[in-house]
Amino acid sequence: MSYNDKNIFAKILNGDAECVKVLENDFILAFMDVMPQAPGHTLVIPKYKTENLLNLDLNYFSPILEATQKIASSIKKVYSPTGVMILQLNGAEAGQTVFHLHFHIIQRSEGLNYKFHSSEPRSFKELQKEADKIIANL
Ligand code: AMP
Repeated sequence: MSYNDKNIFAKILNGDAECVKVLENDFILAFMDVMPQAPGHTLVIPKYKTENLLNLDLNYFSPILEATQKIASSIKKVYSPTGVMILQLNGAEAGQTVFHLHFHIIQRSEGLNYKFHSSEPRSFKELQKEADKIIANL
């Protein structure tokens, strides 16, 4: 499958769709997942058109991992979970539903009820509250 510019993350990147931003630089954009699996669920995407990790330009690996580490550290400070999960799916068979490469950062703790995909959409106002806490601890 070739990259389709009409996917929702491509629209977010080119400004045609809204998101609640957490971190941005020349290589990456991080924003709140609109259907969070747990409070603070953040996505990191490259500013590079690829569906999956296998076709990612090597120059983007380091910025993505740096941003992911930074946000995971902030999530640890904000929510004090016992664990933080970094999740990245390649292909529909692996569970991928949006076909622009993304890394999930999701806090995990005993009793946090993680579901793989299904969750309720949250308002931007609610997401912004969580984003502000993460941003303050980056
Ligand atoms: P995946 O199943 O790994 O492809 O994950 C796609 C993720 O994108 C899911 O966790 C969705 O909740 C999330 N998502 C879908 N549309 C949006 C959107 N417009 N803004 C933020 N997150 C989104």
